[in-house]
Amino acid sequence: MSKKVVGILGGGQLGRMLAASASLLNIPVVILDVGESAPAKQVIAPSGDLSHIDGSFTDPKKIRELAAKVDVLTVEIEHVDVGALEGLVAATNGRLTIQPSPRTIRIVQDKFRQKEHLRDCGSPVSAFREVQSSVEAIVAASMELGLPLMLKSRTLAYDGRGNYVLRNLADADDALAVLGGRPLYAEKWVPFIEEIAVMVVRSADGMVRSYPAVETVHKENVCHLVFAPLRSRHPDLSSRARNIAEAAVATFEGAGVFGVEMFLMEDNNIYVNEIAPRPHNSGHYTIEACETSQYENHLRSILSLPLGSTDLKVPSAAMLNLIGSSSSMTGITCVTDVALTIPGASTHLYGKAECRKGRKMGHITIVAESDAHLRTKLRPLLEATPGSTP
Ligand code: ATP
Ligand code: MG
Ligand code: MG
Repeated sequence: MSKKVVGILGGGQLGRMLAASASLLNIPVVILDVGESAPAKQVIAPSGDLSHIDGSFTDPKKIRELAAKVDVLTVEIEHVDVGALEGLVAATNGRLTIQPSPRTIRIVQDKFRQKEHLRDCGSPVSAFREVQSSVEAIVAASMELGLPLMLKSRTLAYDGRGNYVLRNLADADDALAVLGGRPLYAEKWVPFIEEIAVMVVRSADGMVRSYPAVETVHKENVCHLVFAPLRSRHPDLSSRARNIAEAAVATFEGAGVFGVEMFLMEDNNIYVNEIAPRPHNSGHYTIEACETSQYENHLRSILSLPLGSTDLKVPSAAMLNLIGSSSSMTGITCVTDVALTIPGASTHLYGKAECRKGRKMGHITIVAESDAHLRTKLRPLLEATPGSTP
């Protein structure tokens, strides 16, 4: 097995699951994030020189401190200081590997540049355009793309924080206030019938291998449920989605897993929504349901180990996000108490210090021998979920 030390920028739930996967392979990991007990730091004991680092993944000094301890750097979040990573490539003269490449992270972290890249490389994307932060520019964009108009922050977006649905022009002022001073772009409203996602693992030499296509169900812009595999009346839908995802990921440099979010249209067309250059919420299910999890395959790819099979090993799986409804964990505990009584349900809690409304606190994966069994197992969990309709 690899003796290389992996450094992860970011210590949230994705870093935690990466670290847990690394511990099974005895791969040493160092985490950079604020706080001694960030979720990822809790699952891997610091040993010797390899103590975790307390600091921000946007702080160049802290990133260099991390780099000095490790052989391979990777990210669990794209909103890192990419300039610092680019500087390290030159400064370490090839000693340090950064996966995926800083160039990829730079493109992806600006959602407008990312969309341009995807369009220019031939991925199907819906219409979009740059928008300056002024009422006049928003009006001009809506003339071109119509209403409703999806205004998006180019940077630092997650869980829909950074999106504004402009339904009439009178709200342009409000949109600017809500989105603050962030650089913006606009997308044509996409009346999709379903959201789908495909995780793709990319080796350092550019080979891509996709996981099964899944259905993702969002609530208030946040992923709520994932169903694997994708079911459709169209027998070729899954393979088309996988082909589109693989082709999109093939255009980026560097190794690692990538999450590809897509929209399915009434006419069976698929558009790419966005890409994440890291493990992704829509791939949590792979831990219990696939032959190799997205986390293990991320580690394998960035360490140039053979990639693992991405096949499902169960007929049907679902993932339910445990999202805070207030500062209290009570609502979540109600669901996890039920999950403990359901065969095939695996509970993951992320060890976050505080629960907050809208915050991802954990998830539950269910595996089953058929879709019918899956629904039966899922129902009591949904009934116990605050504000959820089974
Ligand atoms: P993530 O947490 O996935 O990174 P994000 O903040 O980057 O989210 P998006 O993925 O751009 O946000 O959008 C969030 C959700 O908003 C999508 O999953 C989809 O439900 C909806 N959405 C995004 N773009 C459009 C669009 N052009 N038309 C209609 N709905 C959209
Ligand atoms: Mg995003
Ligand atoms: Mg998204």
